[in-house]
Amino acid sequence: MFAIVDRLNEEQRAAATFEGDQLRILAGAGTGKTTALTARIAWLVASGMPAERVMALSFTRRAAREMMHRCDTLLADAPVRSATRRRGRIVGGTFHSIAHRTLRRHAVALGLPEGFSMLDAGDAADVIDLVRDEHGAAANGRRFPKKGTLLDVYSRTVNTQRPLSTVIDEVAPWCADQVEPVASICRAYVHRKRTLGLVDFDDLLLYWRAAAMDDRLGPLLAAEIDHVCVDEYQDVNALQVEVLRALRRTDPRLTVVGDDSQAVYGFRGASPRHLLDIGSVFPEISTILLERNYRSVQPVLDVANAVSEAAPEGFMARLRAESPGGERPRLVRAADEDAQVDAVCEQILAHREEGIALREQAVLVRAAHHSDLLELELSRRRIPYVKYGGLRFIEAAHVKDLICLFRLADNPRDELAWFRLLQLLEGVGPVRARRAIGALGVDQPGTPAEILMRWPLAVEELPAPSRRTADAFVNALRPATGESVGAHGERLRDALAPLVATAYDNADARVADLDALTAAAHNAARLSDVAADLTLEPPNSTGDLAGNPSIDEDWLVISTVHSAKGLEWDVVHLLNAADGNFPSDMALTSREGLEEERRLFDVAVTRPRRRLHVYFPLRFHYRPRGRDDDHTMSQPSRFLSADVTACFDTVRSSRHDTLAGESIDAGFRVATELDALWT
Ligand code: ATP
Ligand code: MG
Repeated sequence: MFAIVDRLNEEQRAAATFEGDQLRILAGAGTGKTTALTARIAWLVASGMPAERVMALSFTRRAAREMMHRCDTLLADAPVRSATRRRGRIVGGTFHSIAHRTLRRHAVALGLPEGFSMLDAGDAADVIDLVRDEHGAAANGRRFPKKGTLLDVYSRTVNTQRPLSTVIDEVAPWCADQVEPVASICRAYVHRKRTLGLVDFDDLLLYWRAAAMDDRLGPLLAAEIDHVCVDEYQDVNALQVEVLRALRRTDPRLTVVGDDSQAVYGFRGASPRHLLDIGSVFPEISTILLERNYRSVQPVLDVANAVSEAAPEGFMARLRAESPGGERPRLVRAADEDAQVDAVCEQILAHREEGIALREQAVLVRAAHHSDLLELELSRRRIPYVKYGGLRFIEAAHVKDLICLFRLADNPRDELAWFRLLQLLEGVGPVRARRAIGALGVDQPGTPAEILMRWPLAVEELPAPSRRTADAFVNALRPATGESVGAHGERLRDALAPLVATAYDNADARVADLDALTAAAHNAARLSDVAADLTLEPPNSTGDLAGNPSIDEDWLVISTVHSAKGLEWDVVHLLNAADGNFPSDMALTSREGLEEERRLFDVAVTRPRRRLHVYFPLRFHYRPRGRDDDHTMSQPSRFLSADVTACFDTVRSSRHDTLAGESIDAGFRVATELDALWT
């Protein structure tokens, strides 16, 4: 058993083997917090706690998986206490995925239809838009918030559990006198989702909390778990804290880990205060601090220290490297984005020549689309990569179509899914689709089967030539007796494939995607679970679904900074370190927004073990790779202050170099030179 804590330092070991009930581990980036938490879980299990009675929560799917994987590895060598009992698996995942599991398991008790549909952010905005229209929001001739703002306001109100008016004052002060109409849209949104059996991301937490706080269901949920562990606690919001409090109301055992200087989910209502003031919720909690950074070399940590020193509320201890040596980070000034892409590719390949595999390198971006040009170039150079945190694949129309079809199979009230799928039919636009949905009466009482029984009325609303296809498709929705979930999935895929083939180009590749997605249905309890999994943990490609290609294959990682939290690589390339990109100009309306960007920058620069390269394009073209030369000059990120820049070797990328914003007025010179010829 001591092998589990063998490699830990003294403080980590104290944390892993802590005898009390409640523990908080508080420390900076790369100090081995997750390592200590994982060891603690393994220690508890090795000491006899059944693994399936340990809940481990994190913020990204990847981080949660990584944690479970590390636990398994530690436990593989440890003896099992009770030789007769097979070891179960830890209940691990993101808050949202575990909430989803709880909701499915207790759907009936919670008053949800068993096959409820899981909405993604885009779907949620569409539902809000629908109720906004019905409220004649735009009719009174005044400027009224659009769906995106409404959803943001709704979600923040729910997640921070503060009054709507306060939230509006903060994020949309210009409509402060319209609190009542916004409130009535929020109420209608909640009502609409209930009627149609739709659940959005926030509902997952709201229903989980309702379940955990309920006098009858709550104790059952709490009694299933002996110990709750939470990584990245600086990113919890008020709802998540209440869920945890409710889950621990009879059994106090809890371990949380966090770093307030890495809090980056303020836009979702999170606050590092929950970590710092945890004593107000769990008064008995003890704290252990970790101080030595095992991840990065000192020259890299110098950058992180300089970045956080500039923060107005910097009270985190300086990061000190445990391992000596290391090279200075590089700040690469590139002429424009094309030159940036070239510089990144050259550097990646140079490192690979030195023996640093692609897999040990990552390109980090503030926003998913910042890597668009790079991805093109990587494909051109045949450098394989995977992307974390982008939503491309799941947003591909045909993928969304199949997800909607799976949703509909379990929940024929899903108005959004109908609306999307009916429009795949020849000659059906929004108007006909609405009429057909009206005839189905999705908001009328009745069982799923009874709703589908009204289909003959609905089909009347569709143009005659597309009725047969539509009928076939609705037949596929009806479960056949004794049919497995997988077989039903196949039947739906078969019904959808011809529509996808006619509605989109590149049909073969799209149909192949449908096959890969359908394969997941064979292991699922129900089709709406497959749809929900894809929504909660979007894969980046079908390759991602099947797991990464093969062990010996090598690929580069491209990731948003948010999705890179908790992870590390030998080499990190940070792109677009220009003001407006990083910090994102959307965050610059408030001081908190800017501070959150700074912490995000800190997260980015604390990911590398050995080498950090930060790239800064001097110009951005309006139309990248376009023929004209419209461009804007950019400013370096404001986080690259003089003190921070002093930690870097600044280099100019040599390729495609040009003068930064200066002009030699060649036209004048050419003209004067030629003048001599005209005489
Ligand atoms: P983050 O703040 O980014 O989440 P963290 O505090 O969770 O970081 P870990 O990911 O646990 O840090 O550890 C960072 C690196 O340090 C990992 O490579 C880990 O293997 C290594 N490490 C942690 N503790 C030790 C130790 N006691 N001895 C040697 N290496 C260690
Ligand atoms: Mg960690």
